[in-house]
Amino acid sequence: MDTYKQILVAVDLTDDSQLVCRKALELAGENGASILLVHVVEFIYQMSTSYDPLFYPSFEELAIDEEELIKLASEKMADLIKELNIKVGINFDKEIVSGIPKSEILRIADEKNADLIVCGSHGRSGFELLLGSTANAILHHANCDVLAIRTRKNSE
Ligand code: AMP
Repeated sequence: MDTYKQILVAVDLTDDSQLVCRKALELAGENGASILLVHVVEFIYQMSTSYDPLFYPSFEELAIDEEELIKLASEKMADLIKELNIKVGINFDKEIVSGIPKSEILRIADEKNADLIVCGSHGRSGFELLLGSTANAILHHANCDVLAIRTRKNSE
C-alpha cells in the first residue's frame, strides 16, 4: 500500500480538534508524512438581520472584524499546537485563511498536493447529521483520500 506523505488536517478549533490531530499525528509518524494544520476563519458577511438598507458596514469595519477573528483563531491554534506536544522529526506546518471552510480546505489540499485529508466527522455544523456538512463536502469533492475521525458517538 502507498504511504501518505502530505497530510492536511482540517481543524475547526473546537474541543474535538485535539482528537483529530492526535490521530493524524499517529498516521504521520507511521508514514513519515508531513502535517499541514489548516483552519478556515468563516467570515459571514451580514448586512443586517432585519435587511435594513440603512445598515451597511464599511469595508474598514469589515476588515477590523476579520482581522480580529483571524487573531483569535491564531491564538486558539497556538494553544492547540502547544497541547499536542508535537515530536521533533515530524515535519509540521500550519495555515490560517479566511473564506468558506470546505472550499478553502479543498483548494489548499490541491495546492499542497495533499494525499490525505483528515477531518472530524462532526464539528460546529453537523449535530443531527450522519456526517458534518464540511466533512461531507470534503469527502465528496476531494482529489485525494479522506479520513473522517469520529468525534461524536452514534447515540449523541
Ligand atoms: P462540520 O461539518 O462543521 O460538522 O465539521 C466537520 C469537520 O470539518 C471538523 O471536525 C473539521 O475537521 C472540519 N472543519 C469544519 N469547519 C472547519 C473550519 N472552519 N476550518 C477547518 N476545518 C473545519
